[in-house]
Amino acid sequence: MDALLDFTGRTVLVTGASRGIGRAIALAFAARGARVALNYRGNLAAAEETAAALAGTGHMLIPADVADPAAVTRMLDSTIEQFGRLDILVNNAGIYEDHPLESSTYETWLDAWRRTIDTNLIGAANTMYCAGQYMLRQGGGRIINISSRGAYRGEPAAPAYGASKAGMNAMSQSLAKALAPYNIFVFTVAPGWVDTDMAESYLEGQKGDLVRQQSPLSRVATADEIAYTVVFLASSGTDYLTGSVIDMNGASHLR
Ligand code: NAP
Repeated sequence: MDALLDFTGRTVLVTGASRGIGRAIALAFAARGARVALNYRGNLAAAEETAAALAGTGHMLIPADVADPAAVTRMLDSTIEQFGRLDILVNNAGIYEDHPLESSTYETWLDAWRRTIDTNLIGAANTMYCAGQYMLRQGGGRIINISSRGAYRGEPAAPAYGASKAGMNAMSQSLAKALAPYNIFVFTVAPGWVDTDMAESYLEGQKGDLVRQQSPLSRVATADEIAYTVVFLASSGTDYLTGSVIDMNGASHLR
């Protein structure tokens, strides 16, 4: 294994790691020697399945709703209690809900905005705060946030989602500047479509073909491809990439 991609002795917290991209990220770190704290919201069966598939030992499962600030505090406390330190945080937990303005009631609209911003943006902000406090004390760390192409391209049926991810990009860049003097580096990955539960209903049949054709590769990304980029960003040697937003959209939306 490339020494830079060897995470033996390092600890990682991945939010939303029971399924999809988070699961692939957890597997990729464990395969490279890290101990992984797997966060999930409620799907214990999926979280246990992921945990059972991890290489190595010493991993942990942490149920917590990242939209709940007290649960985020407890999640970080128990990670540090068990691991002793936290080298890498991956803010991956996220939700996508359709709430088109043209056909939503005001109530539906308000609910979608609150849930989406609380989970995708404030959840990540609070997790960064709590992890950041530990990383300041231990003298460094790396944070990777999973954003979306939707931050740039627009999300006509889910404007709260696009706004949450644009907010995440801005937050990551602000904190990259604030924390670099303390040896804490912050990166963002902005995928286009990825083949997971979140995208499943949009990838079926003919409408799925239209989605795949958005990329000149005529396909969507795999979760493993996103995970590989996250592992790369978490490796030593990427310090000068801090503050960057890496577009992973198969050239479907170039800016
Ligand atoms: P997914 O298959 O729907 O999985 C979502 C994961 O997040 C699950 O582990 C879920 O836990 C967890 N989660 C959801 N809400 C949570 C909360 N409040 N607290 C803690 N965990 C929570 O989604 P995915 O496609 O892997 O997406 C992962 C990230 O990539 C998201 O931030 C998403 O916005 C982003 N992304 C996805 C795509 C795509 O096309 N799939 C494209 C661009 C960006 P449970 O299993 O317990 O419910």
